[in-house]
Amino acid sequence: MSLLLRGGRVITMDPSRRILEADVLVEQGRIQNVGTLEGRKVGTKRPVILDCTGLIVLPGLIQAHIHLCQTLFRGLADDLALEAWLAERIWPLEAAHTEQSIYWSAMLGSAELLLGGTTAILDMESVRHTNAAFEALDLIGIRATAGKCLMDAPSSPAPLRESTDQALQESADLCARWHGAANGRLRYGFAPRFAPSCTGPLLRAVSDLAEKADAVIHTHAAETPLELELVKRERGNDEIAYLDSVGISGPRAALAHCVWADKEGIARLARQATNIVHCPSSNLKLGSGVAPIPEMLAAGCRVAIGADGAPCNNRLDVFAEMRLAALIQKPRRGPEVLPAAQVLELATLGGARALGLDTEIGSIEEGKRADLVVLDLTGPHAQPEDADLVSRIVYSARASDVRHVVVDGHVVVKDGVLKTADTKEICRGANSEARRLRRAVGI
Ligand SMILES: [Zn+2]
Repeated sequence: MSLLLRGGRVITMDPSRRILEADVLVEQGRIQNVGTLEGRKVGTKRPVILDCTGLIVLPGLIQAHIHLCQTLFRGLADDLALEAWLAERIWPLEAAHTEQSIYWSAMLGSAELLLGGTTAILDMESVRHTNAAFEALDLIGIRATAGKCLMDAPSSPAPLRESTDQALQESADLCARWHGAANGRLRYGFAPRFAPSCTGPLLRAVSDLAEKADAVIHTHAAETPLELELVKRERGNDEIAYLDSVGISGPRAALAHCVWADKEGIARLARQATNIVHCPSSNLKLGSGVAPIPEMLAAGCRVAIGADGAPCNNRLDVFAEMRLAALIQKPRRGPEVLPAAQVLELATLGGARALGLDTEIGSIEEGKRADLVVLDLTGPHAQPEDADLVSRIVYSARASDVRHVVVDGHVVVKDGVLKTADTKEICRGANSEARRLRRAVGI
């Protein structure tokens, strides 16, 4: 099948960051041509045409830290510190999940993400029922690297704790079933929750398994000073150095947050080319702090962006994250730091690197997979139209400006409507399961 996005302004994010008035031709899920195709032959069959006249074509936006399993908990865990947020709300709610609730939670989150221009995610599920999340991801058409959460440390909450062998075996089984599924759109990502919830042997084994499977490792790190203290006390090392010592580092690893990484930690993250996933809304809402992103970028770190889970945000909106990522650094380091163009890189090229897919997605270039977002910036909030286009996208645009979304060459959102599933049905299913979960944990 071929698809032609005709007549838009194309933000390529290619090495010279070209912005072109161009058509984008997609064939067999890949970008075949970026340029003016008028009068030129576009393959043997007539392509399906998306008219992008007056619209902006962007590489699909990428969020490299999401918990789809928590979408049903939105609004159920507000205004709490991380430790209470986890222990009193998130862990009991995750423990109450069934296959049905995991499925509808993933459908709800993915619908919000796709409608808002996020085409690819790195997703940490709960301990159980991750198959059901993959079924939802398969059906709804988002590009996702997802994995079951691992918690084998004796201090982990009993209802979620597994034996090391059980945790590793189920991960390996899920990886065998889903890594590379749906024409490579779905991938497996090993997901130890965070250092305090995992034993050293588990982390070491995860590193080996991920390398063998050519899969990414997705975890949290240095989110709060309390977490750092705990790791130092129990494992005798700074958390970033500890994770490195058990093989959770390098281009294969994505560490969410790193708010409290110190100078030495930042240097180590840069040296190892470990991916940091910045989640500004979550860090502010949980009161965790402001991650030193300009310092990390100056040190040469790889940085991506993410909304984290719905209960600590409460949106899964990449436009909100981009805007906030830029704004929160200004009082710390001055208004010049983290300009719009650099933030857009975090949500495209940075995300692609964190997913280990930088040769496949993150820019609009011939040969890459066709993950594309078409934005309508004709609303008053994004005018005047001659203002810098990247500034309009990062500082002014909203998720509701997304008109069309293409993932792997398929049109999954057209004219602001999800085409792969019925949003009303998703909301019905999600609401019914959210009610059941709430009753199950008594909140
Ligand atoms: Zn998280």
